[in-house]
Amino acid sequence: HAMSDAWSVERSRLALTLLAIPLIGFSTSSWALAFALPLSLYIAWTIRQIYKLEKWLRTGSFKGKAPDTGGVWALIVQQIYRQQRKEKNRKKRLRDLLKRYNATVSALPDATVILNGNWDIEWTNRAAEELLGIERARDTGLRIDNLIRDPDFISALKKFDKEMNLELASPVNADLMIALRMVSYGKGKKLLTARDISQRVELQKTRKAFVANASHELRTPLTVISGYLEIMEMDPELPSHLAEAAGRANEQAGRMQHIIDDLLVLSRLEGTRLSRNSGERLTISAILRQIISDLQKTVSGKSHLFRLDLDEGLCLRGNEAEIQSVCMNLISNAVKYTPDGTTVDVRWYRNSAGNACLDVEDNGPGIAAEHLPHLSERFYRVDAGRSREIGGTGLGLSIVKHVVQRHGGFLHIDSEHGLGSTFRACFPDYRLLS
Ligand code: ADP
Repeated sequence: HAMSDAWSVERSRLALTLLAIPLIGFSTSSWALAFALPLSLYIAWTIRQIYKLEKWLRTGSFKGKAPDTGGVWALIVQQIYRQQRKEKNRKKRLRDLLKRYNATVSALPDATVILNGNWDIEWTNRAAEELLGIERARDTGLRIDNLIRDPDFISALKKFDKEMNLELASPVNADLMIALRMVSYGKGKKLLTARDISQRVELQKTRKAFVANASHELRTPLTVISGYLEIMEMDPELPSHLAEAAGRANEQAGRMQHIIDDLLVLSRLEGTRLSRNSGERLTISAILRQIISDLQKTVSGKSHLFRLDLDEGLCLRGNEAEIQSVCMNLISNAVKYTPDGTTVDVRWYRNSAGNACLDVEDNGPGIAAEHLPHLSERFYRVDAGRSREIGGTGLGLSIVKHVVQRHGGFLHIDSEHGLGSTFRACFPDYRLLS
């Protein structure tokens, strides 16, 4: 409605202008004047409207009233005014949203720090002060590595690509253990979060200490029991059915000894890391050959076919007893859990990423996919009865995993039910010596 009004005002304005032409023309008989005067007036008036509109837009006095023109100019002004109001509302909504978002993130119990491409702090929340000692007012604009000086953190920063996960003591309170996580987003920005994990770490320590103490305490009485059983077993005066029982009992005591030893080994390994350049020079190919030749002297080892493909010159810097137990566990598993006649491939090589890997691959019955993620959990067995019969403790692969992790590497298990399994232990390049 308003639009057609405005146009009709404009139309009548133009009509009046055009009407003035013959009026002036006939009354003055100067047709030049008759054309020039009304048209110039119309153009001048129009230009004035444009000027007012431009000034109104330029000075940005949007709160002030728009120039009161009428006609099509009023229409244009109105449209602009409406657009501006819309824009203002949108901005306000965005501001409110941002404020709410800021308030939410500020209240998060996890420390949150936003870093720019230069590792400078752009924004932090309240929890960052407690956990990391970073204050928004004081530290915004400072580089993060000036505030968190933990060497592990600094070296992780240097290597940072897309993501980083790290556990360290809080820079403000050494009793607080924190889990740091950093991800990159946008154009070189990074989001750093830190969570208090002291309780979890404390619980882990208690559990570790408990397992270690319990295992240790069980050891002595078990040795005594085992000793007496051995004496009984050898006593010629003992009736044969009791001698047999003593023999069985002694066997079980031996098994228990084995479990306790493995538990002690595990609690020693767990959660500790070998420093980068510690360890002896180990000729893995020689270790593997020795283990296989020893195994081939046993009954079960005889029935398996071993194929070796070993990089003789590739040596590893590590703990001899631990690495030996990795090799031993993987190879003896391939013999223990596969039937006679199975082929076992053992490879030691440098892969394309520069890491050194030990593969132990068999073409035995394999392991169903649902078991794979659990194999390296302590006491996990696919077939508990069979594993016990074979003499396994269920701790072998746990030990393997922890040793490999302690050496900075990882264990990968791949298996296809019915086709066989591959156990791969890879070690980082800094552990290699050639
Ligand atoms: P254990 O010390 O009792 O041998 P491990 O932790 O070494 O236990 O192994 C866990 C389970 O993984 C075993 O009980 C067995 O069922 C399965 N397993 C390990 N190696 C193989 C293999 N090469 N083929 C099939 N199953 C395997």
